[in-house]
Amino acid sequence: MASIAVNIQDIHDQITSACLSAGREPESVRLIAVSKTKPASMIKEAFLAGQIAFGESYVQEFLDKYQDPILEKIPVEWHFIGHLQSNKVRFIIDKVSLVHGIDRLSTAEELSKRSVQHNLQVDYLLEVNTSGETSKYGMQHDEVLASAERLFRMPNIILRGLMTIASPETARARQEFRNLRLLLEDLKKISPDPLKLTELSMGMSGDFEEAIHEGATMIRVGSAIFGWR
Ligand SMILES: *Cc1c(COP(=O)(O)O)cnc(C)c1O
Repeated sequence: MASIAVNIQDIHDQITSACLSAGREPESVRLIAVSKTKPASMIKEAFLAGQIAFGESYVQEFLDKYQDPILEKIPVEWHFIGHLQSNKVRFIIDKVSLVHGIDRLSTAEELSKRSVQHNLQVDYLLEVNTSGETSKYGMQHDEVLASAERLFRMPNIILRGLMTIASPETARARQEFRNLRLLLEDLKKISPDPLKLTELSMGMSGDFEEAIHEGATMIRVGSAIFGWR
């Protein structure tokens, strides 16, 4: 198998060509390397190849890696991308730079409460269920718009945009990415601070090029960098 460094370079080349064909600047897309189930040693290897942002999905696994001596002096930028239960919020909020998967009002409330307690400002994204698959987490479009005013008012948390996991079929995925972008546009119209709503976290190993065409600002790529899980 190719090395992690080579895989990361390949992804950057693909990001660049997708951006060029979409008429976008390659710098407008950030690569989040999804390291769930992979050891700290692989994170270190990717970091030394220039990768800074890493996504983790499971709280306990994340905390183990966060404290792993292998990553001492390795200033990783952590993104929490998994489903986050309210009772786990307090374990991660002072350790991550962005929480991607807030999927209910009650979790946002807990995030806000804990951020106030810790005197932190926490950036987050709302997870939207764009595919309609009941097995997937995420709010429905209408629910996002209906909750927006309450979300905007919650202290110490800043909504930065939206996140989704699309359907496996490419054509459907592309439509779902587009719907997420349109939803972000609708949110901007009702936001007191639309300039904060900049992020679309969408696209994974199998569909990030489509996501880039539809406006992704962050792509979450795991297996194409670290191999199969
Ligand atoms: C695992 C995971 C990814 C990465 O998936 P790959 O197909 O391995 O690139 C992206 N986003 C989320 C939310 C994930 O859980």
